[in-house]
Amino acid sequence: MSDKLNLTTILVAFLSFILGLVSNLLIGWINDKRRFRGIEGGIKSHLQDVIGEDLTQLKEDYEMIIVSIEKQQMGSIKFKAFESFNSEIYKANNPSDYYKIYYSSKRNRFKTLIAIYSIIDFLKENFPFEMHANYVTEINSHLDKFLKEDEKRLDHFRTCKSCNNIRNNYIASCRLRVSEVTELKKLIDEFLKG
Ligand SMILES: [Zn+2]
Repeated sequence: MSDKLNLTTILVAFLSFILGLVSNLLIGWINDKRRFRGIEGGIKSHLQDVIGEDLTQLKEDYEMIIVSIEKQQMGSIKFKAFESFNSEIYKANNPSDYYKIYYSSKRNRFKTLIAIYSIIDFLKENFPFEMHANYVTEINSHLDKFLKEDEKRLDHFRTCKSCNNIRNNYIASCRLRVSEVTELKKLIDEFLKG
């Protein structure tokens, strides 16, 4: 009698342990699913509505700098600030969550996501207004070293080899960014296909 009771007690304890384990796993799984849905929605909206909306303007602004440098203009240009064009939302989440959400052996969206935000970080280092400001500063400090009079400055700027090198460097830099924006658009389209 007492042996039987002991066995029942052990069995009940064991079963409730298993039940607790299973329900903990289930709750964890449901919480993960809910969290993953939130992350997925945030990334999708950021790429589609924030980054995606800025791409055309960003490309046009870099192209505008190229034209301005080629025409040897030195005036100021009005640029957009692109305040929301950054990877903060992406960096707010855990990389292992991204892996769980986006990796599959058939289609590795995890890899595409990393590539997308690497380009965003790269572009963020030199937005059009910074790029153009740096160009103007570099040209002006070069001219300051050699000349004082404004008229000669312009002649020098047009004929000097060093000034031409500076121009070519910035044009190459802008062209690289134009092609990175194109690549970014391609990757985002591919990623958003789901
Ligand atoms: Zn010079």
